[in-house]
Amino acid sequence: MALLPILEFPDPRLRTRARPVQTFDATLEQLVADMLQTMYAAPGVGLAGTQVDVHRQIIVMDTSVEKNDPQVYINAEILEREGSEVGEEGCLSVPNVFEPVKRATRVRARAQGVRGQLFERELTGLAAVCLQHELDHLAGKLFVDYLSMLKRERIRRKLEKERRERASGAGKPAAKPAAQPPAHAAGRVI
Ligand code: ZN
Repeated sequence: MALLPILEFPDPRLRTRARPVQTFDATLEQLVADMLQTMYAAPGVGLAGTQVDVHRQIIVMDTSVEKNDPQVYINAEILEREGSEVGEEGCLSVPNVFEPVKRATRVRARAQGVRGQLFERELTGLAAVCLQHELDHLAGKLFVDYLSMLKRERIRRKLEKERRERASGAGKPAAKPAAQPPAHAAGRVI
């Protein structure tokens, strides 16, 4: 297994639209295992192929408290959505940024598993939010796209500044520990 590098906003590769998976083989199984390992290590509750520069319709997620319920959604589509709720979201590709986003509260999805088996599932709560967030990734969309242009620009400048500081401080111990998510957004890095 291997940890995969995660692309960060505003990397243009995050704007790529993922194509459907057609071949369900050992290579796909390995990729899914690597994506799950990368997600758990980050740590995050979901990861889309796009974020690791694999432009195929692959989503992994685990929204359980115990982190023992890995789920794989390949070629997923939402069949029904119901209700709407605004909740704080973070994203592994937009580190240390948490903003409110409006999502459907319940979705019914159809997808394939890692061996190609079709299934339908109803998702609510964080799992529903997570699947919608990951499907956005596969369409080349980021949660910051829901914010105002001004806010998005501010986030882009903040991340670029942090990246420059990281690069110039390479090899030296970090001056300050990474920011912790606000309590209400903890566990919502998708
Ligand atoms: Zn994300």
